[in-house]
Amino acid sequence: MIRTEVVDGCLLDDGPDSFLSVKPWAMELVRELGLEKEVIGSNDHLRVTYVLKRGRLVPLPDGLMLMVPTRVLPLLASPLLGWKTKLHMAREFFRRPGGIRPCDVSVAQFVREHFGQEAVDYLAEPLLAGVYGGDAEQLSAASVLSRFFELEQRYGSLTRGVLAERRRLGRPRASEPLFQTLRGGLGRLVEALAEAAGPRMRTVHARAVAVERQEPHYRIRTEEDTFLADCVILACPAWQSAALVGTLDAELAALLRRIPYHSCVTLALGYGRHEFCVPLNGFGFLAPRRERGKVIACTWVGTKFEHRVPEDKIVLRCFLGGGDESILDLSDPEIEGLVRGELRRIMGVEAEPRFVHIARWPRSMAQYAVGHQRKLEAIEHRLERWPGLYLVGNAYYGIGIPDCIRLARHAARCVAGQ
Ligand SMILES: Cc1cc2nc3c(=O)[nH]c(=O)nc-3n(C[C@H](O)[C@H](O)[C@H](O)COP(=O)(O)OP(=O)(O)OC[C@H]3O[C@@H](n4cnc5c(N)ncnc54)[C@H](O)[C@@H]3O)c2cc1C
Repeated sequence: MIRTEVVDGCLLDDGPDSFLSVKPWAMELVRELGLEKEVIGSNDHLRVTYVLKRGRLVPLPDGLMLMVPTRVLPLLASPLLGWKTKLHMAREFFRRPGGIRPCDVSVAQFVREHFGQEAVDYLAEPLLAGVYGGDAEQLSAASVLSRFFELEQRYGSLTRGVLAERRRLGRPRASEPLFQTLRGGLGRLVEALAEAAGPRMRTVHARAVAVERQEPHYRIRTEEDTFLADCVILACPAWQSAALVGTLDAELAALLRRIPYHSCVTLALGYGRHEFCVPLNGFGFLAPRRERGKVIACTWVGTKFEHRVPEDKIVLRCFLGGGDESILDLSDPEIEGLVRGELRRIMGVEAEPRFVHIARWPRSMAQYAVGHQRKLEAIEHRLERWPGLYLVGNAYYGIGIPDCIRLARHAARCVAGQ
């Protein structure tokens, strides 16, 4: 999914545009590949994220840790949430630990219990939709909010938990930006990895169609060839891995098929700065489900990162999907028309774009639905029958790039050990 393109002098990431700094595994790989000098951070001094509420863009209050408030004044002053929710949040501070939850619950239920429905609608749902492309009523709190799940067990209150952890670990370094990326786009990471690995690798550019057993090896059939391997790492989507292992282990395939996926579309609109009359004071906006048309989130690319957009241009990057699979049926002009209509309504953008660049990502966002961890346990259990067979990618233990790298490195170490 990591793919960078240059359009009209603008550097466009069609898929991910950055990785989270707090998760170290992407940076480790960047260092190992000698790309450290190319790393740039997000322009956090300009970081304001807006949330659409009743047709207006309202800034997220300062001091939120996802949807957990850690500062009183910005929260009190914010028009994003009503008094009822603010009181709910204040009461949450005094919540006592209730022991281990007997079972997983949805993100929406979890957040509702702590902070009320409005915090689900205007904080958790839009923030997570931009990352998971999913529905807060379906996503698993144990998987998606695992850290908060643990804090709840220990402290009862998430706010008290976050503050206590902060005291214990010290404040995050102010110099550390929230997001990091590479000056030449994230595609550089893939290029550098391929270059570094290339001399030690035989690359077969063909679609794999089956993984079978030919004791003591695995037999991999591609569309063109068949070859034997001692170990196999399946680094494709779970539904694709299911198709590959279908004859090897029908039960494993059935388990893998139970991980649902959503599709998404990204659309970048490029404008001449002089024609674009709307101020861009922030990183962009999120559109909560109850206010949403098609656009879930819009990044104001030139504000978020340097080296992406030349001085005389503006780029808005929109993210669509989030369970609305009908977007894949729309033609490019239809998508453009819908998005431009929404940007006009939400931001007042009347300018004619100089370019429109659309990327479709069918069945790309694995959904960690309620019960995801149980599914993973069953998959792990099944994999015990198949020594040397590994599953990596975004379907299992983290959807972001750092977690994908962590899992892949672990699999690579196991293979090397074997
Ligand atoms: C629009 C978008 C924006 C995102 N933004 C961010 C972000 O800003 N930060 C972040 O951390 N994460 C982001 N993510 C999530 C992150 O990019 C992905 O979860 C991660 O890159 C997935 O990596 P992967 O290796 O699992 O999948 P992929 O990158 O899809 O790799 C799977 C590979 O398997 C290959 N393959 C599939 N089937 C076969 C087969 N049968 N034979 C051979 N090869 C096969 C595919 O061609 C593909 O190359 C975003 C995702 C999307 C879609």
